[in-house]
Amino acid sequence: MTLAITGRFEESAMERKYKKLNILEEDRKMAGERSQESSELQMKWPKHHKRPRSPQTFRGGSKRRKRCRAQARRPAPLKISSYEVHKVLGRGSFGKVMLATLTSRKQLVALKVLEKRPEIMKEHRALKIAGGSPFLCHAYAAFQSKLQAFFVLEYASGGSLSTVMENGPFPTSTVMFYAAEMVCGLQFLHSRGIVHRDIKLENILLDQNGHIKICDFGLVAHNIFGNRTTRGRIGTYGYMAPEVMLMKEYNAAADWWSLGVVIYRMAIGRSPFYNGRVRTMVQESTVSDEPQYPEWISPELQDLLEKLLKKNPQHRLGTNGNIREHPFFASINWVELESLKVKPPLQPRMPSTDSSGSSLEIEKDNIGCNDINILSGFSFINPNWQE
Ligand code: AMP
Repeated sequence: MTLAITGRFEESAMERKYKKLNILEEDRKMAGERSQESSELQMKWPKHHKRPRSPQTFRGGSKRRKRCRAQARRPAPLKISSYEVHKVLGRGSFGKVMLATLTSRKQLVALKVLEKRPEIMKEHRALKIAGGSPFLCHAYAAFQSKLQAFFVLEYASGGSLSTVMENGPFPTSTVMFYAAEMVCGLQFLHSRGIVHRDIKLENILLDQNGHIKICDFGLVAHNIFGNRTTRGRIGTYGYMAPEVMLMKEYNAAADWWSLGVVIYRMAIGRSPFYNGRVRTMVQESTVSDEPQYPEWISPELQDLLEKLLKKNPQHRLGTNGNIREHPFFASINWVELESLKVKPPLQPRMPSTDSSGSSLEIEKDNIGCNDINILSGFSFINPNWQE
């Protein structure tokens, strides 16, 4: 139901913004006064908030009211009205990512808004695991409305490598730094049985200090340990490994191929294979062509690329051999790198929160206690998210 804003409220700057975002008065009231959802929070609650009782203990009318009251006490980060949305940062296949401020803390966050689909729980699970590596994008919280799911992510204000690369390819030392941080992020994921499946320049972000953050866990495969494999032509054409395109079984070696494409593009400024609009030609080129290497790249870099872009996944560096020992990375101190002590080559500019004026619509459908379209176990607050 859509209700117009009446004159009952004084129209503050915040409210004007909400009006612009189509989050109307009635919805904000609902968001503030009613519960968000009935799935149980999975992680610790901040000290001053009482954790609601388990949903199973609530049955019948008065108990349901108690449950609603308990949920209404949930901390502010778990409702859309707690955020002021500024602009769209990017779009993915099933939703978009917006720059937003958590108004109570004046903290900038990236709010990922997605259609509710069961597959979302794979991203949810990967985001929780990602908190263990500084080179992966972290989630502060997750919540849901009737139709949409929201991930509150740390804001990587330096943009993606694809935007940073608009000025041309990087010097070798810059390529080495980003590639080495990516190696750490990928090895962390793979050691937890996660294959990312969509490694590409657009999904490698830079944080405010210039360190990389691998984002978008929407296509991950879980439980790929030992000899286990997965299937499916999943990812982005131009970055997909031959075995993925050919619908064969594959494992983490698929990510190492994509890393090879990313490094090639960072260093040489173009794709190693045909990358036009005709998918069959992209596939043909990926499966059959050998990349061309300009004379000016170092022999170590060429060797690294040749080893990452091996057509046969069993021979590919990353899953075959220790990539950290490759001569291209000879000057990397991995211990220092992993403790973020190596100075990044580029210092991102301060982010702007100017609104883009583009469509920022968010569903005005705060979830009620009795809703059935609930993703169970979705909501959480990262205990490390400082109050
Ligand atoms: P995704 O759907 O996760 O691939 O995100 C789509 C785009 O949104 C990315 O390519 C980035 O440009 C942007 N984006 C995603 N997550 C963040 C983040 N945490 N901080 C800044 N920008 C982001």
